[in-house]
Amino acid sequence: MEIRVDLERIKRDILTLAKIGRRESDRGIYRMAFTDADIQGKQWLTQQIEQADLVASTDGAMNISGELPGTSDAPRVLVGSHIDTVPCAGALDGTLGVVVGLECLRTLRENGFQPERTLELIAFSDEEGRFGGMFGSQAVCGQLNPQSLETTTDMNGVLLREELARHGHDALAALDAARVPESIAAYIELHIEQGPVLDRTKKAVGVVDEITGLFTWAVTLRGEANHAGTTPMEMRNDAFMGLADFAHEIPRILEENGSERSRTTIGKVQILPGATNTVPGLVEFSLDVRDTSEVVLEELGAAFRKALSAIARRRNLMFEFAQKSYLRPVACHDAIVQLLMNQASELGLDHLRMPSGAAHDAQIMGSMVPVGMIFVPSKNGQSHSPAEWTAWSDIEAGANLMLQTLVQLSSATN
Ligand SMILES: [Zn+2]
Repeated sequence: MEIRVDLERIKRDILTLAKIGRRESDRGIYRMAFTDADIQGKQWLTQQIEQADLVASTDGAMNISGELPGTSDAPRVLVGSHIDTVPCAGALDGTLGVVVGLECLRTLRENGFQPERTLELIAFSDEEGRFGGMFGSQAVCGQLNPQSLETTTDMNGVLLREELARHGHDALAALDAARVPESIAAYIELHIEQGPVLDRTKKAVGVVDEITGLFTWAVTLRGEANHAGTTPMEMRNDAFMGLADFAHEIPRILEENGSERSRTTIGKVQILPGATNTVPGLVEFSLDVRDTSEVVLEELGAAFRKALSAIARRRNLMFEFAQKSYLRPVACHDAIVQLLMNQASELGLDHLRMPSGAAHDAQIMGSMVPVGMIFVPSKNGQSHSPAEWTAWSDIEAGANLMLQTLVQLSSATN
């Protein structure tokens, strides 16, 4: 099919949505989940869906959908992402995936294209995590429970239930958003890469094959706080030195137990009591470990534990850790990866098969249905900031790849 997306409409939609929740002081967008700005964004999206002559709906998790009905009742194809943002966000992130999905369905509708499978645009609620993250996609996959809906709060102690009630919405209705896997043939998402790889390698699009899994730990090393002048070096139980030893071992552990897709970060450290003239008695730090293989993640976990215990023994420290989160890696569906690669070649796009180092709604959806992801380059690898940007030509390339892929996926015989 020779149809193409209209880049001018994508531009207009991105720039319009960028005004919703934008603060003039720092030019950042503040459209965190279920704030007034987020609800305004959802309303704007619903209007666009209606104006495009698609069937608009909102489910119990306040996910916004727009349907291009299929001619058969074969399982449908979902395309989307999220329009909520982190505080002080840029204009693209999940918003781009939603706007591109809208433009694809709008273009197909205008061209009189009749899909066999229903094509559904979906904008998931709270992907970014004001209330934990991936709320809308977890709701669709039936992963929420009544207790968490009653008790979940944001960082400031605002209850999810009360925030939803403020907009006339019952939190427990999110349970009704669950769908059966048999109703969905595939979920496909376009997203900015949020890393430097495509930009550095000058590729227009990336085809994601695996989405990284991760675990995070809160680690504590406990020694003894003592006077920095009167305590001889060999008589110290210096908790910070334990952390320093550990940090040094990370490259070795990754080399021995990790893969080239492994990442480990100590992003947050607290040294106590935190005085210039006191030997640190306690350090608390975060450990963020990622890989696209569950087996590798397990091996890394074991190796980090072993290294920490050895260091604690050597330095006379106590070592404790608590796992704070765990997200399973998800492989994109082979046939969809192949389809995306083929379509990219046919469109003459310079493309790269690559992993996703960030978590996305596709990861949650991938636990239930076949998923695929398209990446477009992030300028200088920047994201979650007003500096986040992607060249319009790359956005157009990614959108046309999405359009052709949807045409293929919408055939019920595929
Ligand atoms: Zn996102």
